[in-house]
Amino acid sequence: MNSVSIEDTAFLAALVDTFGDSVLLGEAIPESCQSDWTGHAPCRPLALVRPATTQEVSRVLRFCNEHRRTVVPQGGMTGLAGGAVPSADSIALSLARLSGVESVDRDAATLTVRAGTTLQAVQDAAEEAGFRYPVDFGARGSCHIGGTLSTNAGGHGVIRHGMTRDQVLGIEVVLADGRVLDLMNSMIKNNTGYDLKHCFIGAEGTLGVITRAVLRLSPPQSDTHTLLCALPDYPSAVSFMHRLRRAKLALEAYEVMWQDFYTMSCGWQTKQPPLPTNYPLYVLCEAEGSANHLELALEEALSAGEVADAVLASSTTQARELWAIREATAEFPIKLAPINFDISLSIPDIGNFVEAAEAMLHKHWMGVRIVNFGHIGDSNLHLTVDGHSLTEDTPQTRHAIEAEVYQLVGERGGSISAEHGIGLLKRDFLHHSVHPDTLEVMRTLKNALDPNGTLNPGKLLS
Ligand SMILES: Cc1cc2nc3c(=O)[nH]c(=O)nc-3n(C[C@H](O)[C@H](O)[C@H](O)COP(=O)(O)OP(=O)(O)OC[C@H]3O[C@@H](n4cnc5c(N)ncnc54)[C@H](O)[C@@H]3O)c2cc1C
Repeated sequence: MNSVSIEDTAFLAALVDTFGDSVLLGEAIPESCQSDWTGHAPCRPLALVRPATTQEVSRVLRFCNEHRRTVVPQGGMTGLAGGAVPSADSIALSLARLSGVESVDRDAATLTVRAGTTLQAVQDAAEEAGFRYPVDFGARGSCHIGGTLSTNAGGHGVIRHGMTRDQVLGIEVVLADGRVLDLMNSMIKNNTGYDLKHCFIGAEGTLGVITRAVLRLSPPQSDTHTLLCALPDYPSAVSFMHRLRRAKLALEAYEVMWQDFYTMSCGWQTKQPPLPTNYPLYVLCEAEGSANHLELALEEALSAGEVADAVLASSTTQARELWAIREATAEFPIKLAPINFDISLSIPDIGNFVEAAEAMLHKHWMGVRIVNFGHIGDSNLHLTVDGHSLTEDTPQTRHAIEAEVYQLVGERGGSISAEHGIGLLKRDFLHHSVHPDTLEVMRTLKNALDPNGTLNPGKLLS
């Protein structure tokens, strides 16, 4: 139980007095607001406030700023970096009540939405209007648009459509002192100086609270083919990707699974593996374009020895079964004790990195189990260490493993966060990927926008 000081009691009384029913205290604060998907130790904040309008967000932030109380913005709590995890003395600000798609502009192919709307609801509204919102990943039913913007989320469509940042035309954002910045641009061409929205996208709630957004929509998908291939080695995965592109196929996803991942995931499925489990590498690819072009490219790759075996889905059900192998990652928190790495490296270097990282991990932690997959067309590798396979799975061991892996990433000029953000979990390793001068400019920006340091302190920057 959190202890509440006299000062806190007076502040909470004033908070409830000002914001009434939208404030929850003590045991009324749901567990879902106390931690995210990282499995970080849950922490009950001093209060949870649930504003339903931008004006309310503004009033809450002004109030907390005047009282020098820290505020932790919360979306769907599906983050994988601990960015939304509150501290015991903070006020959690849930955007869940600020939800709903406001409008779709068919002429401009844009959608205006409130921050607390789920990604799934945005995808559905786009589809209903004859478009597609191309950001997609497993947490679509729970994560909020505000959360996806604040983490600049990726997913498997990035290879074709880019990250969340690339889908955003405008935002409305509330600053720490309560000022509302109207950056709700809806025009594709608009060169009027600094494009400030990009400071807030990917800022993980440290610079402002995003309340609304204008998103770009894409045309609906047509003639999409789903293909699973077994490959002899990593360079073949890279050259097969080029071959598909040369065949005028638009890659919607190119998900490479190392043997360790494929074998483990197939063991979790109810059906027989679609391809034998003895190949070094597998790629699940989704491509838009002519079926003839795809079959021809596949035949060429088979005769060149680039692809060893393949299965092309002949129905939506079969495609879904192939995707289930890749989406086994959603089971990781239940079936493994995962230490997750979400890193970026140059595309040709990813295969060598996996070998180097595995050799290093096996040398220090004998018998450790490692599984790998990556959106390699986006330079993104997800390496997972199973804590169950460690002799001692302690916070110290986990920290030592992280330090070694991030050191290796830094030495190779990679990024310690490809798409999940920095949050709490990677904050102390940021220097491996960000130059001290850049860190200084980031701190200057933080101080300029939030001089009292009330917005999500301790996240992203130390
Ligand atoms: C099963 C699963 C699969 C995933 N797959 C992917 C994937 O493929 N690619 C990928 O990139 N990510 C993936 N993620 C992680 C992804 O970052 C989050 O799911 C999502 O982007 C976070 O949204 P959220 O609303 O849950 O945010 P939260 O977890 O609530 O918050 C995340 C961060 O954003 C801040 N924040 C939230 N809302 C706002 C707001 N309105 N204004 C300002 N700051 C705010 C919080 O303070 C925190 O720092 C996955 C997560 C899960 C659980």
